Amino acid sequence: MTPFLTALIDFFFPPKCLLCGGSLGELSDDHPCPLCTEGMKFFSHPRCPCCGLGFGDTPGEDHLCSTCLTEERHFTRARAIGPYEGLLAEAIHRFKYQGASRLAKALGTLLAEYKDPEFPFSNFELILSVPLHPRRLRQRGFNQSLLLARRVSRRHSIPLDFTALQRTRHTDPQTQLSGPERQKNIRGAFEVHKPELIAEKHILLIDDVFTTGSTVQECAKVLLRAGAQQVDVLTLARAL
Ligand SMILES: [Zn+2]
Ligand SMILES: [Zn+2]
Repeated sequence: MTPFLTALIDFFFPPKCLLCGGSLGELSDDHPCPLCTEGMKFFSHPRCPCCGLGFGDTPGEDHLCSTCLTEERHFTRARAIGPYEGLLAEAIHRFKYQGASRLAKALGTLLAEYKDPEFPFSNFELILSVPLHPRRLRQRGFNQSLLLARRVSRRHSIPLDFTALQRTRHTDPQTQLSGPERQKNIRGAFEVHKPELIAEKHILLIDDVFTTGSTVQECAKVLLRAGAQQVDVLTLARAL
């Protein structure tokens, strides 16, 4: 579409916030509106330098959380935009379970605009998303993580691959399981099919929600085993 035509359409049908339907003002429609952005909580310091868990409003230095102190982490750093609650949780739920794949635009932009000096996008050589098993993909019709990853890849001109890492085992939904049960449930669910694509690469792995981290842990483990140099993780939300 020509810029003139786009401007004309925008004049008669101003783009609306994909999250709440409110006015976007000067923003393009791949952004949440200022009200939505304001209504979301974002993580800040102090936090765990490894998994990014925020410690709330208590001032102090960053320090490792109890899980990162006691358990082996296969990813180097994991970061999330904010806690899995309120508006962000609602938007993710609509995106994933109500098939609102158009929300990928606004939510993907939130991810792509994540700013953190300890987590510069320029470090990453390849973007992967957490794959769905073909059976789940048929049910849902789209892989929510891949839609998000695509926007980050485009925005930062980092190549995206969705063939190297595959989910070869169907697993029951993790939502009802405890941490150790999740780890057991997900073990052996992923395989690297084309190790040459990820060899020696510093990888950014994208998923929608970090709950206990068992899914991204398992992915990072198989990626490192298959020759990746380092795996960092970025998710929209982090369950507390
Ligand atoms: Zn809004
Ligand atoms: Zn941690």
